[in-house]
Amino acid sequence: MNPVSDEPDFGEFTGRDASTPHTLTTRYVVALAIVAALLIAGQVVVQYAIFAQEDDSRTINLAGRQRMLFQAICRQALAIEVAPDRSMLGKAAFRLRADLTEFNRVHEALLHGDTALGLNGVNSPEVMALFAELEPSRLAIVNSSTQLLGAIKTSRERFVPSDQVAVILSHEREFAEKMERIVFRYDWESHQRVTMLRYIGLILTGAILLVLVMEALFIFRPAVKQIGRDIEYLQNLSLRDGLSGVANRRRFDDFLDMEWRRAIREGQPVSLIMMDIDYFKAFNDTYGHQEGDEVLTRVAQTAVKLVKRPADLVARYGGEEFAVVLPGTGLVGARHVAENIRQAVQQLGIAHSLSPINQFVTVSLGVAGQIPSVNSLPGQLIQAADEALYRAKKEGRNRVNVETETTSCQ
Ligand code: GH3
Ligand code: MG
Ligand code: MG
Repeated sequence: MNPVSDEPDFGEFTGRDASTPHTLTTRYVVALAIVAALLIAGQVVVQYAIFAQEDDSRTINLAGRQRMLFQAICRQALAIEVAPDRSMLGKAAFRLRADLTEFNRVHEALLHGDTALGLNGVNSPEVMALFAELEPSRLAIVNSSTQLLGAIKTSRERFVPSDQVAVILSHEREFAEKMERIVFRYDWESHQRVTMLRYIGLILTGAILLVLVMEALFIFRPAVKQIGRDIEYLQNLSLRDGLSGVANRRRFDDFLDMEWRRAIREGQPVSLIMMDIDYFKAFNDTYGHQEGDEVLTRVAQTAVKLVKRPADLVARYGGEEFAVVLPGTGLVGARHVAENIRQAVQQLGIAHSLSPINQFVTVSLGVAGQIPSVNSLPGQLIQAADEALYRAKKEGRNRVNVETETTSCQ
């Protein structure tokens, strides 16, 4: 748009970049796919984190339970040793058997998993190494307890505690310490996993944000610009004559109206040139309509080139007739412009063999101008220019005629 007259640029016709919407669509699809993939990855990480956390806390609980079971076994061994009678001995042995069974079950679950407990039994090599270290103590405890229970069962009289109790108690400290290390290791690994998942979550969120920023920069911003360009292009198209590329009649009417009101406000003149191609029917008959169309375009563009002020407008008024609006220009200046156009069209040197007045295509021009008053209408200026054009035709064509009304300005 030009800042002086709000006139769309009709000089150079700039088409739209047809590849851009396609590129934007591709980018949009790719960005959506990346965001979707990142969201899915994020969801997988969250699900895995929940699962791992549950598994970790169950494992840690169970490892703690194993430690407590061992302490219970030690207590029962002691109770067996100091049992005052057969009844107390039986009770202690019963509890020892129950604790031992549970002790073995928990051990199995920790090492090989347990579906009922929801444990997968997958341990890190470090944890497995700690279990291997624990194994001699555990075996000694299990064997001694089993033997102890066997001995109680077989003894008919008062039971005399054997060495087995001493063996069990001798492992108390070592087993407790090693089990503690396993619990600590489980806890540490769980913490590491949570930290790692937190980082992955942060990275995924950052990646999604980055994609969104890229989307804003490389998809939405160009898309908004493209829409703006499209709107401008369509507005431009609706105001342009499809054949000659200059303003169309609708644009001419609006423009003259607008300039007319501006001239009233500013007390400035408005001039109008009406231009008509001479013997154009004969030209069409000789060279055909297609050639005729070509001439229309060339004549229009010649006028555009000569009308240099940004506030001026060249329009196709109808058929082979063009109008040039010159805001802020008096009759003298308008006549000068008209004369220049006349000469330039003739100098195009477009052969017109049937023209009685010239060997080339020529134009006749009528010029009118006035400083509009509040009561005057643009139609008066058009009529005056039309009459001047009529006189130019009558006087022999290929000439400029300037209106001689008293209202006109110099
Ligand atoms: P004059 O010198 O008096 O202006 O004679 P003229 O033959 O130019 O005028 P007339 O009004 O008799 O004929 C105008 C012709 O302009 C008629 C039509 O064939 C031609 N014309 C109008 N619009 C177009 C167009 O869009 N393309 C082409 N090729 N010719 C057009
Ligand atoms: Mg005509
Ligand atoms: Mg004509």
